[in-house]
Amino acid sequence: MLSPIKKIPKLALILPAYNEADGLMQTVNQLQTIKNQLLAAGTIASGSFILIVDDGSTDQTYPIMLAAEQRNDDILTVKLSRNFGHQNALLAGLTEAIKLADITITLDADLQDNPAIIGQMVARYQAGAEVVYAVRDNRANDTWFKKNSALAFYRLASWLGVDLVPNHADFRLLSKKAVVALLALPERNLFLRAMVPLIGYPSAKVYYERGQRAAGVSKYPLKKMVQFAIDGITSFSVKPIKLVFNLGLIISSVAGIEIAYTLIEKMIGNPTAGWSSLMISIWLLGGLNIMAIAVIGTYIGKIFTEVKGRPRFQIEQETGVLQTARPAAKSWSNLPAYQRAQ
Ligand code: UDP
Ligand code: MG
Repeated sequence: MLSPIKKIPKLALILPAYNEADGLMQTVNQLQTIKNQLLAAGTIASGSFILIVDDGSTDQTYPIMLAAEQRNDDILTVKLSRNFGHQNALLAGLTEAIKLADITITLDADLQDNPAIIGQMVARYQAGAEVVYAVRDNRANDTWFKKNSALAFYRLASWLGVDLVPNHADFRLLSKKAVVALLALPERNLFLRAMVPLIGYPSAKVYYERGQRAAGVSKYPLKKMVQFAIDGITSFSVKPIKLVFNLGLIISSVAGIEIAYTLIEKMIGNPTAGWSSLMISIWLLGGLNIMAIAVIGTYIGKIFTEVKGRPRFQIEQETGVLQTARPAAKSWSNLPAYQRAQ
């Protein structure tokens, strides 16, 4: 199907940065080079820019950003009032960038997301896609553990009914239409890679090889990664609660058989010695009970954060032009829940 030719878009490249002082300028310089090439080729419009979001860094990230912003017209900055986390920093960047841009591309500040494919991503947008996912075509640079845990995660998520694009993280192009739709989702528990497929619209994929970090260390140690995976799944699927219910059902039937057995034993006058079986049952059932309560507690915790309706991010300072520009979408961030529902 032929899609209508879109006008040449103004592109915003959004970089969330948390303690990225060591490698930030290297990333920004590369992005500027690519941006200028695309500008010269007529792929993107003048006024395209790079937006760096400081997510409460405690190192020199923000002073470095400010110095870059002062030297360059095409670098804009947003400083969040504290560390809100990667997903919230991305959302803050999208909310602000879309005031000025027609399309956005979010990418890591550490050059792991190869900027060489930006041109291809914009071409897919021109060909009709409103969302373009950058997908890793191999995991050769990953450890055995990371490779297999990622695979297990995608399998589990898909089995639980969470719609995800395998091997795609947060390197993606969103058109203004897609960003506006995304910003209308009022949830506080953000898991963007599952929220984006929810908004629909035509999408495309571009494949790339994910590199090593240019400088600094990963902000996702194992514990945070596992937490992120659990958080993602429980934000998009209630199947774990059903599984716990089924488990309870199976265990209760076993208990039923046990009761029948004990009664028969008693009737035929064969007293049970059963101390160990009793202990095992107590510990097993106790453990399962606690686990079941924890699963339900996880969901109640999520409801708790949602009803509080706290802002998803708070901007402390930003480039002047962003302060004065009109929001592209009604901002849900600062409204209490009862107003958001209207
Ligand atoms: N990041 C952020 N806030 C956080 C953690 C990370 O803005 O609380 C940024 C980080 O600076 C980087 C991106 O999110 O630009 C992805 O993080 P990282 O590269 O550490 O994750 P990894 O690639 O190791 O999964
Ligand atoms: Mg990274």
